[in-house]
Amino acid sequence: MKKTFSAFLVFLLLLLAFANARAITYPPFNPTPAPTDTVPYVINDDELTHLNDSLSTSPAYDLYSEFDTDVIHYTKFNIESLKDSIKMLTLCGANNCGYVHPFLGKVTCPFGRCKRYFHYGVDIDLETGDPVVAAFDGKVRIAKKNSSYGNVVVIRHSNGLETYYAHLSKLKVEVGQEVFAGDVIGLGGNTGYSRGSHLHFEVRYLGQPVNPMDVISFTDYKLLSNTLEISKKTFVYYPKGKKPAANTNTYVSNGGKLLPGNVYVIKSGDSLSAIARRYGTTIDVLCKKNGIKINTVLRLGQKIKV
Ligand SMILES: [Zn+2]
Repeated sequence: MKKTFSAFLVFLLLLLAFANARAITYPPFNPTPAPTDTVPYVINDDELTHLNDSLSTSPAYDLYSEFDTDVIHYTKFNIESLKDSIKMLTLCGANNCGYVHPFLGKVTCPFGRCKRYFHYGVDIDLETGDPVVAAFDGKVRIAKKNSSYGNVVVIRHSNGLETYYAHLSKLKVEVGQEVFAGDVIGLGGNTGYSRGSHLHFEVRYLGQPVNPMDVISFTDYKLLSNTLEISKKTFVYYPKGKKPAANTNTYVSNGGKLLPGNVYVIKSGDSLSAIARRYGTTIDVLCKKNGIKINTVLRLGQKIKV
């Protein structure tokens, strides 16, 4: 009897072990995915700063799709692609609206006709060794020696503008370096195609020169406005001493004739920058002479002194 009971006990243990083994070998089917897959990824402040940093490594990358650190001028821009649309650029940087004049000196040669050449920048008088600073926050795209620009720095800004600083005696920045408005980027000089120490300062958009005097007051050393209008008209100037094409001067429509006392009558399509260019003056001077601001809306028939 005792033997039979022992045998039964062994049988029972074997049965339990077998049931356990079955349970391990064939787990129940569960179609629900593991809950770990659904935990949301929460980005913390540190990571966000890092992400913003990496996005800002190439300012205006969506506009240029490149950051060429060798070729000075961007050449893939077609003025015709602008059609008649107008784009407003904010001149404020990513962090502030700061503008710092590159060097507080006298203008010796304005944008446009200067001496025998068409001049794509503004020349500012300085002594060799004077510090030259970045006008806006940005990233250094070019910092090298060039036969005509001499030692030149080109900074790309987040709004798509680029500023050029040429004829420097010494470069103080490297390619890829982030700079803030007011940072010293080089020392003034007389390198490249230059007679006498001066800073040649340019403002360009997609490689095309913009008249810096449409943007900056070279007497008050500050911005004329917090925005800049970019349209086909922005790039209408007299390239390399040639006369403008017939269809480009329609926005100054009275043929340049002034009323006595140098009074100009506003016609359809006129703009302050176009009038300033036409009569070899600056927006700044026009505003002061007429007691108006750069964003004053001009009325048809309005008379302004030029
Ligand atoms: Zn120059």
